[in-house]
Amino acid sequence: MDKMQPSEIAKILGEMLEAIRLTVKEKNALRAATEIVRNHDVVHAEWIKAGKISCRCGACNYLPIENENYCPNCGAKMGERKDGIEK
Ligand SMILES: [Zn+2]
Repeated sequence: MDKMQPSEIAKILGEMLEAIRLTVKEKNALRAATEIVRNHDVVHAEWIKAGKISCRCGACNYLPIENENYCPNCGAKMGERKDGIEK
């Protein structure tokens, strides 16, 4: 199963907001937090094998020295690698 997308988190927060009875002040605070999550959509990509040991970013093709769990060039968050190399 894929990790939850920020939009899904925002949806759940919204539903929780309706389900829980809160003061107006608390609701406003939660709505503000929900907006932050919603507006912070993270680009997801994968490292794509680009040689014997190196991998390039699936989003921007950047070829970093080391493959982190995010791209240092475009900031894409990396999912599981398809080439089977351990993190
Ligand atoms: Zn990138």
